[in-house]
Amino acid sequence: MSNPLDRFSHKLSAVLGLVFGSSLNRAHAQNKLARHIVALNRKTTPAEIINEVADCLKGILGYRLFAFVNKKNAGVDVWLDPRMYKTSIEDIIIRDFQIKNTKDLTYMNIHKDQAECLEKFSLDSLVHYDHKEENCYSRLYMMPSRPITAFHDDVVRIVLQGSTAALSKQIKIQQLKDAAAIDPLTGCYNRRAFEAQLKGHAAGAGRHRKSLSVFMFDLDHFKSLNDTYGHLGGDEVLKEISRLVRRNIRAEDIFARYGGEEFIAILPATDKTHAIELANRLRQKISGLRIPFNNRTIRVTASFGVAQLGPDADIVKLVEDADSMLYKAKFNGRNTVMPGLIKVHRGETSESLIQAKS
Ligand code: GH3
Ligand code: MG
Ligand code: MG
Repeated sequence: MSNPLDRFSHKLSAVLGLVFGSSLNRAHAQNKLARHIVALNRKTTPAEIINEVADCLKGILGYRLFAFVNKKNAGVDVWLDPRMYKTSIEDIIIRDFQIKNTKDLTYMNIHKDQAECLEKFSLDSLVHYDHKEENCYSRLYMMPSRPITAFHDDVVRIVLQGSTAALSKQIKIQQLKDAAAIDPLTGCYNRRAFEAQLKGHAAGAGRHRKSLSVFMFDLDHFKSLNDTYGHLGGDEVLKEISRLVRRNIRAEDIFARYGGEEFIAILPATDKTHAIELANRLRQKISGLRIPFNNRTIRVTASFGVAQLGPDADIVKLVEDADSMLYKAKFNGRNTVMPGLIKVHRGETSESLIQAKS
């Protein structure tokens, strides 16, 4: 039985018999617990899983779940009882999990105003339980309303094992999804994921009558950069540029590697004017970037094409428009954004810019 859920279900049947014996009341609790465990496995998000845990502890034991922490290979997810004041237990979690920066904590559930959450209670009687799976480690903090009996203890452990197994399964599913959608070198979406996202966003833009733009950019003279610094130098540049762009766009923007040294971004709720402004800011940041590599410094520029989704919501045309603008940007001397200013060459040394007619 390789699946942790299968292993867990097997163990559950054995433990249920021991815990509940044959009395009618216990049979009732056993049914309730089994229903919660089945429900846990049907949940599709971590927050839904933890809400089920909270309902289960409350429904069977009358306990209140205060916090649930799930430590994964990357990051720590925290669920907090929405009625409580965040900072009171945050300190405990930070200490218990040796977290250096609160930014490393991701809150799974949304917090209401602090004033609404403020509830006076003593954390002295807070108890915690732990469970480890191969890819995550869970801890639940709760406030028992009465002394913990062996029966209570077993129920909590069963619930924690079931929920951690369900979380572990979700982490694996997410990893598989990421592997299919993420470019391994840059950590950006790949082209296939981009195309799927564009379909969804274009449909959403049409439905809500919102504008949507894309920018596409291609690194200039990348072949000669590879020739100068080697392929590893080129790879380092691709990684750094991706990082820079991700840091400077909005969380809802979708940024993808479209091909070798070509990238594309979907900008929801953004018209062409604002997309051009953003592309220009990024172009400047890219040209100002100094990338250290093997005791040398690599510099690179990029050419951008920008387009806005038309009323016909034709996504093929949208990408074609951005691509043809990118081609114009290359033709316009590179390190430019199109539509934009046309570079006018006057002799060998001077160059000025005029507004393009289109
Ligand atoms: P232009 O300014 O016209 O875009 O010129 P360019 O040299 O960038 O264009 P070209 O298409 O001739 O070259 C693109 C280069 O990008 C060639 C290819 O070897 C390189 N490349 C593509 N993918 C990768 C990659 O993953 N890593 C590295 N290091 N180089 C890559
Ligand atoms: Mg290029
Ligand atoms: Mg190219």
